[in-house]
Amino acid sequence: MSTPDPFQQQREDMVHYQLEQRGINNPRVLDAMRHVPRHEFVPLEARELAYRDTPLAIGDDQTISQPYIVGLMTQALRLSGHERVLEVGTGSGYQTAILCKLASYVYSLERYPALATQAADTLSRLGYNNVDIHVGDGSQGLADMAPFDAIIVTAAAPAVPGPLRSQLHPQSGCMVVPVGDDKNQDLQFILRNLDRWDVKRIAKVRFVPLIGRYGFSVPPKPEAGSAGETPDSI
Ligand code: SAM
Repeated sequence: MSTPDPFQQQREDMVHYQLEQRGINNPRVLDAMRHVPRHEFVPLEARELAYRDTPLAIGDDQTISQPYIVGLMTQALRLSGHERVLEVGTGSGYQTAILCKLASYVYSLERYPALATQAADTLSRLGYNNVDIHVGDGSQGLADMAPFDAIIVTAAAPAVPGPLRSQLHPQSGCMVVPVGDDKNQDLQFILRNLDRWDVKRIAKVRFVPLIGRYGFSVPPKPEAGSAGETPDSI
């Protein structure tokens, strides 16, 4: 007999109050978010907070996104199950797990090796095996594996990175990506039809920056020993 999940009720409440009541209505997305154990993707000391209506720190100055934002971005992709998806910004791996449930295969890129390793371990421990995690600059995409039916970028870019646009499947490849500066960003939905990319704005959002060649530049390292030291970049 399997042990009851002490977080199940919190997950049900999250889906009802944070997603359904705010207009997330895709049954596949709701079902995935009802089942993926979000508490497994946050640091141990933050488990009790995992289902709150907020992003949470996951180390390396990065965050696991708010459940509503995960639902909103995932719903926008309209996944039916057969897609190959590129995720830029693995973070904790929570969004990755949701994508694994809804698509055929997920390629996920993370800039910080420690986060990538931790996310890959969690996903493998929980039995997700339709995923490849890569360490690298996701603003350049993953040309060897392109084209992708869907691309999701979970960090804010100053403009839509050109390589990601061209790695979308030419016929109906779609992307969700936050675009803007460090304070004001539009969550954009982009639909490709050959050489045409139609853009729709979905919501105002605030994400951590996409750092890379087609994103923002690497933040300067503070003086050794000063407060607020940032981790080494790769
Ligand atoms: N979706 C994640 C989750 O469910 O935990 C949250 C992602 S977090 C808001 C954004 C992530 O993007 C961070 O882990 C950050 O290190 C990563 N990131 C920033 N720039 C990147 C880049 N150029 N390539 C890959 N990952 C990047």
